[in-house]
Amino acid sequence: MDYTKLGFETRQIHAGLDRDNASCSRGTAIYPTAAYRFPTCEYAAGLFELSQPGNIYTRLQNPTTSAYEERVAALYGGSGALAVASGMSAILIAVTSLAEAGDNIVASPYLYGGTYNLFRHTLRKLGIEVRVATEATAEAIGGLIDERTRCVFAESMGNPTCAVPDLEAIGRTAAAKGVPFIVDNTFGACGYLCNPFEWGANIVVDSATKWINGHGTAMGGIIVDGGNFDWGNGKFPAIDGPSEGYHGLNLYTAFGRQAFIVKCRVDGLRDLGASPSPFDSYLMMIGLETLSLRVRHQIESTRRLAEYLREHSAVKNVAYIGFENHPWHSNAARFFRDGAGAVLNVELNGTLESTVRFVEALQLVAHMTMIGDSISVVTHPASTTHKQLSESDLAKAGVTPTLLRVSAGLEDPADIIADFDQAFKAAGLC
Ligand SMILES: *Cc1c(COP(=O)(O)O)cnc(C)c1O
Repeated sequence: MDYTKLGFETRQIHAGLDRDNASCSRGTAIYPTAAYRFPTCEYAAGLFELSQPGNIYTRLQNPTTSAYEERVAALYGGSGALAVASGMSAILIAVTSLAEAGDNIVASPYLYGGTYNLFRHTLRKLGIEVRVATEATAEAIGGLIDERTRCVFAESMGNPTCAVPDLEAIGRTAAAKGVPFIVDNTFGACGYLCNPFEWGANIVVDSATKWINGHGTAMGGIIVDGGNFDWGNGKFPAIDGPSEGYHGLNLYTAFGRQAFIVKCRVDGLRDLGASPSPFDSYLMMIGLETLSLRVRHQIESTRRLAEYLREHSAVKNVAYIGFENHPWHSNAARFFRDGAGAVLNVELNGTLESTVRFVEALQLVAHMTMIGDSISVVTHPASTTHKQLSESDLAKAGVTPTLLRVSAGLEDPADIIADFDQAFKAAGLC
């Protein structure tokens, strides 16, 4: 079925369902198998030469995972998708499918901490230089691009700052220099709130652990190919050139708009091995069916919580993307639909000790490092993710001892607010 003309909410339920129709079951079948029988040797040879589509081994593909990939590709309007074991492995496979030792990539400064570590340490060990721009602007990023640049990387909304770069201007600059633009769209909720392909991105990566799964029950990452980049510009011989592992096959000639995602699968996933479990792909399929409903509820709860916190004497400052005083409010309004924010940052009027007391006094709201879950979550960076940093590095990262990141869940928002209220009192903050 052609899903392209259907609305997002129809696609999030229907796309991929008819992919494996042997049993006509309403649910997506889970295929707990490592390998697939080859009916003939000739058929098997075709699979290995990439001339025959089909299943070889679950490290490369699985029918449950294929259905999930088809759903995500349909939600983004991409030419194909590749599901992997985590958001981090999605970033690793996407970037190393483009850049090799001696190349560089250019990144926005507003990055998830795990991505920052991958770029700063692990890619460097592989010989890939990462140039982090001083600002998330097209000028700052464009100024770092040279002949050896193989991609530009940005988050559509930075975790945890909620910084929203000018995706359109950065996309235009990357295109003018013949370099693909990768967007980590975890906060864009699988294209529901933000679809980077509409703004000039060529590749999307997403931590499916967050809003796609939506229930905190599985890890996952996904790479989506926009099918809109010219791999024949001479910079990508591994895509438009003879493939060493496949008897000189040219992936761009053979697969056209899907060349990049095929490359990620047949080299990246084959060799790095970060394949998802079919059961987890099934959980992602279930999660996606309610994605837009969950996100809308979370945005409404976040707005109510932000308004409550703004008036509260225990609170020094609320950074909520929906408020006009947020530095990235206008970019968010431009690139995100339905009001952007299901995450906010709040600084308490207290000390490290009273903040710890507050976090420990919460009863409904969980203290975890998680976002996009059906459970409401607070994270206290100073005692967890940023615990190793010195006081001056904490200040540089914008992390104060009383800063909390809040991700609203699916509970009744009045109950979330009541839990904050009792915890403020228990911590002696009001
Ligand atoms: C969580 C997250 C990641 C990493 O994803 P995992 O699934 O935890 O590996 C990458 N980018 C962003 C923006 C994230 O929030």
